[in-house]
Amino acid sequence: MRIITINYSTCRRCGACVKVCGPGAIAKIDDDVGVVDSNLCYGCMECIKVCPTGSIKIQNI
Ligand code: SF4
Ligand code: SF4
Repeated sequence: MRIITINYSTCRRCGACVKVCGPGAIAKIDDDVGVVDSNLCYGCMECIKVCPTGSIKIQNI
């Protein structure tokens, strides 16, 4: 199981992570970006690679 955390004090709401997340674990919610369902994440790490502010952390537990 994974826990995805977005640091909202540094996130710019650019949506880059949303575009690369194939399973939709991270999605646009109104004008914000949020974790919809950590269980959908398959650990590709693409969101972390594209985030310009290093705001995403993924923990395997
Ligand atoms: S690691 Fe991949 S599947 Fe998981 S939230 Fe990021 S982009 Fe989506
Ligand atoms: S890519 Fe990073 S800065 Fe952009 S919306 Fe996602 S978490 Fe926020």
